[in-house]
Amino acid sequence: STKKLDVLDKGKWPKGYMCSAFVTWTQVQTKSDREAIWPQKQLISIALKEWDIPYEELDIGEEIGTGRFGTVYKGKWHGEIAIKMLKTDPDRDNQAQLQAFKLEVAMLRKTRHENLVLFMGACMKLPQLAIVTSLCRGDTLYTRIHLRREKFTINRAIIIAIQVAQGMSYLHAKHIIHRDLKSKNVFLEGGKAIITDFGLFSVAKLCHGNRTGEWLTIPQGWLCYLSPEIMRSLHVGSRTDKDLPFTEASDVYAFGTVWFELLAGEYPFKSQPPEVTIWQVGKGIKQSLSSLQASRDVKDILMMCWSYCPDDRPDFTMIHKTVDHLPKKRLARSPSHPIQLSRSAES
Ligand code: ADP
Ligand code: MG
Repeated sequence: STKKLDVLDKGKWPKGYMCSAFVTWTQVQTKSDREAIWPQKQLISIALKEWDIPYEELDIGEEIGTGRFGTVYKGKWHGEIAIKMLKTDPDRDNQAQLQAFKLEVAMLRKTRHENLVLFMGACMKLPQLAIVTSLCRGDTLYTRIHLRREKFTINRAIIIAIQVAQGMSYLHAKHIIHRDLKSKNVFLEGGKAIITDFGLFSVAKLCHGNRTGEWLTIPQGWLCYLSPEIMRSLHVGSRTDKDLPFTEASDVYAFGTVWFELLAGEYPFKSQPPEVTIWQVGKGIKQSLSSLQASRDVKDILMMCWSYCPDDRPDFTMIHKTVDHLPKKRLARSPSHPIQLSRSAES
């Protein structure tokens, strides 16, 4: 029965977990009804029904690749999709984490932004947990920068950074921390940047991932996105990354690294042993920008995002504004259009 649902008593429910089904419930309740606490579990499961995709309905196709949390497959479900199959740990009692996973799915369904991958639903029955999103065509920023060694013009870099900042400021406005912003999680689809893998917070807890033994393994190209405060909590012998202090500000730090990759065409702290990077970043040492050919304003954004103290980092609304105001480099002059004098970024 839906009798105990109480739209008036919003305060009792975790923020943001009301769904349209509750809003249409109009029955006026008695005081005793309102005071009865609806078990959170049941509430969430009702809210999530719409987003639960029965595993059997998925037509699973070829494997695309494997990441930290599991394997991604191409598939079909009312059109082409990407299925992120989560590797769960069979030896652990996952009920609590499963509940947390469902809460996060409840968050993902609220994401509607043109620079975010479209979340379509999830398979939420153990042991087959999966996240279903639209299939990104095109390549990731990582592929373009590090594998194809493409050089972006400053104008192109600015456009991409603006789009990433837009998607990120939207996520933060919805109180979703990305936790894994990196060039591998940004696709370029016909000139548009699409961010993937946001908010998979509890997924990390559910997944066995690629851990070997009891220790946290550091995947290649992960370290340079970690802010000083996260680096400093790494050394205490973290067993998984679930307890690391990810915040909005640590997302901003990671954005700084993406901005650096766009400009420099490589990772910061390239070819440096991990322990040196951990020590340096933890102490507040930053990648040198002396060999980076970019204007002052461009480098200032990097330095702000990489601020040692989380509170000193700008938020994404601010970043968006600042990047948007960067002077664009003039395109090659055409003889029929005389050059106009303008402030140049490179002067
Ligand atoms: P990572 O982000 O570290 O590359 P993932 O597990 O997220 O690891 O992704 C594994 C592979 O699947 C990668 O090659 C990634 O580009 C690809 N992939 C992930 N999500 C999608 C998607 N929505 N559409 C197309 N390919 C995807
Ligand atoms: Mg990914």
